[in-house]
Amino acid sequence: MKYLIVIVLALVVVWIWRSNRQAGQPGKPPRQAAVRPGQPAATEVVACAVCAVHLPRADALPGGQGLYCSDAHRRQAEGG
Ligand SMILES: [Zn+2]
Repeated sequence: MKYLIVIVLALVVVWIWRSNRQAGQPGKPPRQAAVRPGQPAATEVVACAVCAVHLPRADALPGGQGLYCSDAHRRQAEGG
């Protein structure tokens, strides 16, 4: 009889412990795709201000009037 009480007590303790663990872990929202704030996507495409060719923003040359596909077009547009 003494062992029965100990076993029941142990089961109750385990049950309470498990209930507390589940209650302490609220459902986490599903992970979203990693987005770096403040940084444009690597695949963003821009158009050259002269010939309107599309190219990745990383390859575009920034100028005073916009973005260009090449230094030649930048000079052509900005007269420099
Ligand atoms: Zn161009």
